[in-house]
Amino acid sequence: MTELAPHASSWYAATAHPAPERPPLDGDATCDVCVIGAGFTGLSTALHLAKKGRKVIVIEANRVGWGASGRNGGQLHSGQRRDQETLESWFGETRAHALFALAEEAKRTVKDLILTHAIDCDWRDGLIHAVHKKAWLHAACAEAEHLIARYGYEGATFLDAAGIARAIGTDVYFGGWRDATAGHLHPLNFALGLADAAEEAGARICEGTRATAISSDGGGHRTVTTATGTISASDVVIAANGYLDGLDPEIDARVMPIRNFVLATEPLGARASRLIPFREAVADSRFVVHYWRISADGRMLFGGGETYGTRDPKDVAGFVRRHMLKIYPDLADVKIDHAWGGTLAVTMNRMPFFRRLRPGVYTASGYSGHGVAIATFAGKLLAEAIEGDTSRFDVMASIPARAFPGGRRLRQPTLVLAMTWFALRDRLG
Ligand SMILES: Cc1cc2nc3c(=O)[nH]c(=O)nc-3n(C[C@H](O)[C@H](O)[C@H](O)COP(=O)(O)OP(=O)(O)OC[C@H]3O[C@@H](n4cnc5c(N)ncnc54)[C@H](O)[C@@H]3O)c2cc1C
Repeated sequence: MTELAPHASSWYAATAHPAPERPPLDGDATCDVCVIGAGFTGLSTALHLAKKGRKVIVIEANRVGWGASGRNGGQLHSGQRRDQETLESWFGETRAHALFALAEEAKRTVKDLILTHAIDCDWRDGLIHAVHKKAWLHAACAEAEHLIARYGYEGATFLDAAGIARAIGTDVYFGGWRDATAGHLHPLNFALGLADAAEEAGARICEGTRATAISSDGGGHRTVTTATGTISASDVVIAANGYLDGLDPEIDARVMPIRNFVLATEPLGARASRLIPFREAVADSRFVVHYWRISADGRMLFGGGETYGTRDPKDVAGFVRRHMLKIYPDLADVKIDHAWGGTLAVTMNRMPFFRRLRPGVYTASGYSGHGVAIATFAGKLLAEAIEGDTSRFDVMASIPARAFPGGRRLRQPTLVLAMTWFALRDRLG
């Protein structure tokens, strides 16, 4: 068998449950739905379709969970990526409410999948939003108040400066709020659990199998080409997110890959409980967000810093550690055991890109750092749409998505300029 690309050398890979090697596609095959990519989007699509009795083949260029789904911060957020007041101003109250209801269901879907399929992925309740600028505290709390007053949201508790310092073991934040219904998990083990569940439901997963082209015969059939065979399917789902690499020009124009980085310290022992006594995840209010949590074995898992070019920092551990020490200077003596990067995908308006691109070809991607809930849920909506009920898929697909300016060649420098400006604003405080 050809050798499969290893997972990024992360704490997640080091603590992943054993997984079988799933052989690459070997010859031509036929199915109802061919899914390209085995991250949360693709695996959840396969699981939901297979449960409905559809014959599904997932092809993954590398390994199950190899992309962002196996490398991320593991934070499951409430709501959509943009706050409700923004969504109301863009789309009006009715659509904003519909989007919030879908996001709430996304969060429940992740928790239900964990329970239903007994996925062992260190799930823990609780996520704290920490505000890094005094002037922003009012707006951050108003956002939570808005959820409570207008959306009947019950999970939010406010934290003043002293309260947040007790909750997260640092006094660099001005306050924030605790979200009791959000939380965190081990993302690679969640992805591996989804893959097992999809296979149990009847889906076939081929690792080491890259789609190189998708064509239509004009009569109800699509052909996906790979180096080791073709797949003929009624429907195709492109679930390649930040790793799309030009496979589809329409997605490519609207969904831009960016790199983000995470470290894992050595286990902190009793110190871990002094830092975050109730072990919530934490995300701050920076544009280039800092996010962290204590792992099940007591390490600090800290994410921060992103790059917009093609090259990673030479010293990823040092790059992320600098961000961590601004918040936890006392961790200067702690060894960094793992540091890694991953590619996520952003859109112009930071809302995901769900589309039926052409007959029989669907996609969901561009979750803009909010994919643990929404990518997993996308699989459910894609399955519904392919089964013929497009009503909820269409709520997401009706979100406008502008192409990044500059086309394929110039959009990267344009994005670098824009993002660098926002990152600079973070630094200027
Ligand atoms: C460092 C980092 C931290 C993050 N933190 C968070 C967080 O805390 N909370 C949150 O909600 N979100 C977070 N995200 C975002 C989240 O991880 C993603 O939105 C989500 O995992 C997207 O899932 P996906 O299945 O769409 O894509 P991916 O998991 O990236 O999967 C795409 C897969 O497609 C495969 N593929 C690509 N092209 C082909 C092809 N041609 N043929 C076959 N296979 C192909 C790739 O190998 C890859 O495995 C983070 C992302 C990163 C990188």
